[in-house]
Amino acid sequence: MQGLMQDWPLLVHTILDHARDWHGDREIVSRTVEGPIHRYTYRDLDRRARQIASASARRLGLTEGDVVATMAWNGYRHMEIWYGLMGLGAVVHTLNPRLFADQLDYIVNHAEDQWIFLDTTFVPVLEAVRERIPRVKGFIVMTDKAHMPAETSLPNVICYEDLIAEGDSGFAWPKLDENTACGMCYTSGTTGNPKGVVYTHRSNVLHAMATCAADALALSSRDTIMPVVPMFHANAWSTAFSAPMAGANMVMPGAQMDGASIYELLDREHVTLTAAVPTVWLMLLQYLGQNKDLKLNALERVVIGGAACPEAMMKAFEKDYDTTVIHAWGMTEMSPLGSLGTRKGGLEDMAPDAWWQTKLKQGRPAFTVEMKIADDEGTDLPNDGKTFGRLKVRGPAIAHSYFKGEGAEAFDAEGWFDTGDVATIDENGYMQITDRSKDVIKSGGEWISSIDLENVAVGCPGVAEAAAIGMPHPKWDERPMLVIVKEGGADVSKDQILAHLDGKIAKWWTPDDVVFTDSIPHTATGKISKLELRQQFKDHKLPTI
Ligand code: AMP
Repeated sequence: MQGLMQDWPLLVHTILDHARDWHGDREIVSRTVEGPIHRYTYRDLDRRARQIASASARRLGLTEGDVVATMAWNGYRHMEIWYGLMGLGAVVHTLNPRLFADQLDYIVNHAEDQWIFLDTTFVPVLEAVRERIPRVKGFIVMTDKAHMPAETSLPNVICYEDLIAEGDSGFAWPKLDENTACGMCYTSGTTGNPKGVVYTHRSNVLHAMATCAADALALSSRDTIMPVVPMFHANAWSTAFSAPMAGANMVMPGAQMDGASIYELLDREHVTLTAAVPTVWLMLLQYLGQNKDLKLNALERVVIGGAACPEAMMKAFEKDYDTTVIHAWGMTEMSPLGSLGTRKGGLEDMAPDAWWQTKLKQGRPAFTVEMKIADDEGTDLPNDGKTFGRLKVRGPAIAHSYFKGEGAEAFDAEGWFDTGDVATIDENGYMQITDRSKDVIKSGGEWISSIDLENVAVGCPGVAEAAAIGMPHPKWDERPMLVIVKEGGADVSKDQILAHLDGKIAKWWTPDDVVFTDSIPHTATGKISKLELRQQFKDHKLPTI
């Protein structure tokens, strides 16, 4: 028997319809690339999204299925392009400006991007690859006439404000199937070339609903949300969809992500929830450390993910600034949020120490995410909080394949996606990442968690950043080595770091060496690049003990 309920395709424009109709006065505040702060409402966003959709259909010839790229910071124009072009049925492909030039042209060509919308900041980035992306028809610079670059070698350049002025604010969204593609984001994945993840309208709407839930981010119309995590990093962790869905104000930080600029917006705009990778929070906490009279008065929750949240960071937010940390784990392939570290019903009476250790884990799955660990042969492993295994997920906001069918080995016949992470899951369902499968340190056949080592090491006074890598060893195959960046002015020694680790990790996990460096290489999404680090230290000899 069929149910008798109305069918309503889950299209992303329905999110904006709701925001316009019921939260029309809520604001999007953007720090613009041009300088001034820009403010407008969801009602304005709806109007301009329709304008850019109609103008792009008319002047750029865009239609359903066309792929269009953006290279832009978080800001109101970027939101208009997302909602406008997705509403039109086009696929918005976010480009990460931190990619190396050869990765960038590979991605643009592979995705078959037809046009690129870009902030003025990125004109030189695209000029550098222009000749290697010949199929791109033109470039829309996201500014007004007064701020257009005086000269550029980019061909067929259009001023965004000129384009949008030609558009019709009454443009009607076409009727689309909810499984129509609407977004694309490349991920460096585990091996080989970057791979394209293609989101659907349905997956984005479902994911936004799941992330709004009280046990996830608990978003509401009383919140003011600042996604510092860029829209080009996996949908700004869904906030570009979940904030309007909840009717929350949005604060968009633009290009300035240093501690002082982030603090200024958090404070002035009374931001209640913010989200970013640990590197950003390190900068904010350093700034706060230098300006001891500053407080985070309005901030209630900070979402930390993309890389493990160090204990010292969680402590600083929770204990020094009275801000709740939500440690989240996810992947581009998962829209991206997969698990969040909020307290589960039944754990109210957990001893404070035990809860603290649980909170440091990567959290428990949000609705729509199925999760398990398995061994290399594919046998499921127990959720006992001790057994490590390959972390696998499936669900309606998780990719079932990559663009053009690449990387098929990551997906099995039952629809499980192998995340490439190694994890434990405890009795309460909290998952803890211990490594990337390719970064795991295997000593004498046993796994050592590089993330655990790093977390403990960054808790040592004087250590700004730590990375653990496996070094070849004649007896044990591999032994761990720590690479340390000292805090400015700090004079911490190898012996002090080893003494700090003592008692906090298993004895046999103790690194065979600790080396110091000025900076640790990061990938385009802000993660430590273990690949580069291993390359950098390939000739380093471990001391013989
Ligand atoms: P991306 O697709 O760029 O977001 O990268 C996803 C990968 O980042 C995951 O597979 C993890 O290896 C890593 N990651 C994301 N969040 C966390 C976290 N909270 N702790 C540790 N690793 C994380």
